[in-house]
Amino acid sequence: MAEAPKMRPPIESGCPDAFQYMHPLMIKNYGNWAYHDRPRPGVLHHVAKSGDEIWTVRVGTQRQLGPYEINLLCDIIDKLGEGYVRFTIRSNMEIMVSSKDKVDPLIKAFEEAGYPVGGTGNSVTMISHTQGWLHCDIPGTDASGVVKALMDDLHEEFVKEDMPNRVHITTSCCQINCGGQGDIAINVQHTKPPKINHDLVANICERPSVVARCPVAAIRPAMVNGKPSLEVDEKKCICCGACFPPCPPMQINDPEHSKLAIWVGGKNSNARSKPMFHKLVAAGVPNNPPRWPEAGTIVKKILKVYKKDAKDWERIGDWVERIGWPRFFELTELPFTKFHIDNWRGSRHMLNQSAHIRF
Ligand code: SF4
Ligand code: SF4
Repeated sequence: MAEAPKMRPPIESGCPDAFQYMHPLMIKNYGNWAYHDRPRPGVLHHVAKSGDEIWTVRVGTQRQLGPYEINLLCDIIDKLGEGYVRFTIRSNMEIMVSSKDKVDPLIKAFEEAGYPVGGTGNSVTMISHTQGWLHCDIPGTDASGVVKALMDDLHEEFVKEDMPNRVHITTSCCQINCGGQGDIAINVQHTKPPKINHDLVANICERPSVVARCPVAAIRPAMVNGKPSLEVDEKKCICCGACFPPCPPMQINDPEHSKLAIWVGGKNSNARSKPMFHKLVAAGVPNNPPRWPEAGTIVKKILKVYKKDAKDWERIGDWVERIGWPRFFELTELPFTKFHIDNWRGSRHMLNQSAHIRF
């Protein structure tokens, strides 16, 4: 009898074991920390129950690092640190050292190399952004570019801890918004339905996949000039851009009609109030590379008003809940338009969601 074929063992290619990269003091004291404090913005100090101490220097990066930047940063870390570094989800670098004496030389070297130290506590920490052109197939703009331009403007707020509470800013390069919820979010907003290149649809697109992709069932198969293609019911289309990845001939990116929208008040934290979705406060903002000045001006205005008007420890969403949206628009001088009213028919379900479990 023929032998049964052997199953190939699975290849484990998931997240690597983090312990191999940790500072030895972190491994030694894992789960046994007594307390931590922040001696200055950008520096964390953890004390273990054993009495061991570890200092962490937090440094902002431009996220997409080339070989030059990686070598520069690694040289500093090897020479002045102890060779251990981690990246936070907001692309800050954290360098751990076991001696307080190493902190100031590290800070000096990073600042001289053009990398600011900060992003802790009640600062505007690094903006978390989505993949942009580098990794994703559907961006309507670059993500790192907006982040770099904005963080250049917000440098002062990164290196200080002057805000009422921490500020998390996010950007997303399409409306699918894998950037998530932010105190302030800058997301691409398509304003016109896709234009279809019918000559290419039959050659490139798997039509049922495209039809299935549309969240509002606006796409139908159609014959155009004797060739199988697609058509869009523009009254239904919400210009989300989800049909573009499975079918690039559904061209939705447009230099004029793909804009930026700014959203405010989202947070994932459970502290003091429940997690919140951010809400639209500015639509149709020009997607204007390389410095995105219009988006930057609005973000800076919101931050200025928040800093002045919010009480200590209020996140932006908590502050707006307290003063009310009409007052928010008054203070920020942003125009309230019809685009702020969520009249999408699915919104009834959507508005009823939170991360809290209800019974
Ligand atoms: S926001 Fe959209 S385009 Fe950008 S990486 Fe996420 S899914 Fe891709
Ligand atoms: S842009 Fe979105 S809503 Fe419009 S047709 Fe494509 S998938 Fe459907």
